[in-house]
Amino acid sequence: MRVSRVVMKFGGSCLRNSESFRRVSDIVKEYSGHQIVLVPSALSGVTDQLIKAADKASRREDVKPGVDEILRKHLKVAGEAIRDGDIMRNVMESVERLCENLRGALGKVEREGLKQSILAFIEGFGEKFSSVILEGFLKDEGLNVKRVDAEEVILAFNNYLNALPLLEETAANVKEKIVPLLERGVIPIVPGFICKNVDGTPAVLGRGGSDFTATILAYGLKDDRSDVKVILWKDVDGLLTANPEYEENCRLIKTISYAEAKELAFFGAKLLHPLCLIPAERKGISLEIRNFWKAESEEYTTISSIVESRAEVVKAVSGIEKVTMITVEGEAMVSRPGTAAKLFTLMGEENVNIRMISQSSSENNITLVIDSADKEKAVEAIKRSDFFGSHWIKVNVEDDVGLLSVIGAGMKNTPGIAARVCSALGRKSINIRAIAQGSSELNITLVVSRKDLRDAVRAIHSEFQLGSEG
Ligand code: ASP
Ligand code: MG
Repeated sequence: MRVSRVVMKFGGSCLRNSESFRRVSDIVKEYSGHQIVLVPSALSGVTDQLIKAADKASRREDVKPGVDEILRKHLKVAGEAIRDGDIMRNVMESVERLCENLRGALGKVEREGLKQSILAFIEGFGEKFSSVILEGFLKDEGLNVKRVDAEEVILAFNNYLNALPLLEETAANVKEKIVPLLERGVIPIVPGFICKNVDGTPAVLGRGGSDFTATILAYGLKDDRSDVKVILWKDVDGLLTANPEYEENCRLIKTISYAEAKELAFFGAKLLHPLCLIPAERKGISLEIRNFWKAESEEYTTISSIVESRAEVVKAVSGIEKVTMITVEGEAMVSRPGTAAKLFTLMGEENVNIRMISQSSSENNITLVIDSADKEKAVEAIKRSDFFGSHWIKVNVEDDVGLLSVIGAGMKNTPGIAARVCSALGRKSINIRAIAQGSSELNITLVVSRKDLRDAVRAIHSEFQLGSEG
């Protein structure tokens, strides 16, 4: 008989107070016919508080008020949610003990400075706290749950703050440490976000990394005998056809392919960890994004391998405001192989996230669009470089821009989409300052003036009839 396994991630917005904890328990009971793994995020806002405390410690400022606040928040939620006296005492003790460890780590930062591995360790405390409370609460609700240390399961490499999982090694750990629990009818609780670097030090999977934890575990759980699904419980219905702050007529996307959703995660709202779809895609595991407050609703997004062949060419349009466009130009670049590569290496070394690139066919300029937060370091690096910093090259930085990304797998085989995008913008007198198509042909990305971004999103949304009245 095939077994059905569901990995459920609960976002911070689902872990706020006793009411929301009760909902988690209702949902888990709803799914009692399946083998369930639970992945909690930190309580709402806690990861930011931890980062702030670490930063303060590195400047030798007083961290006590911040830590006290974190402790108070968790004790309050635990106190309100858990009724059984013994369980409550155990949870409170664990929370206090974790808090002592946190203080120890912050003390280390005060003495030794803020290294990435210790910052990763500190960032992960939010998920440790939330898991302890969730375990106690669900035990109190009569569920057979057991906390499993994420460090014992998820192995990673690359760096400490945006670590990349070692999927096969992790899958072996899942089989050894999680599957036996499932087979005994236990519901494992694995804290999200946290992992261990191959060198044995603590690491985390990048902001929003609990989504990634869920799909990494699902990858390990998938085998010949079992069907696996991931549900990300959030405080929204799912992925939308446009940013709601620009286009109130936007609609929920009910089904979308991995490839399209990856583009949206990269360009869209911070709804999904940009890498979390990779493990799911590799094993064909479908993913649902569901609204925690409307658990029975049919309005949610399913991400799977199915690419819709309907005439729906464009799935979504996404606008990003805080970007900067850097153009390097000069005759010296013409027909010089490797110029673009040099520029990317430079940006890579500085950890600058490149959102778009385009090169003119005359080859005398390359345009990069990056997050405005990375502007200083990007421009510094270019100016310091032997080649790009020389008088042969002119560097132009434009801050008044916005990025518009039009996404959909249907574009691949449909000629004329770029033309429709351009004319829709033309009719609104919106000037296109740069344009590029991803090699995947799943998106067309345009740079417009920031003041035009909202109108641009709306023009595309209506051109492709993405709205609810479409
Ligand atoms: N708590 C971490 C963060 O806020 C991870 C997560 O929420 O998924 O980034
Ligand atoms: Mg969070």
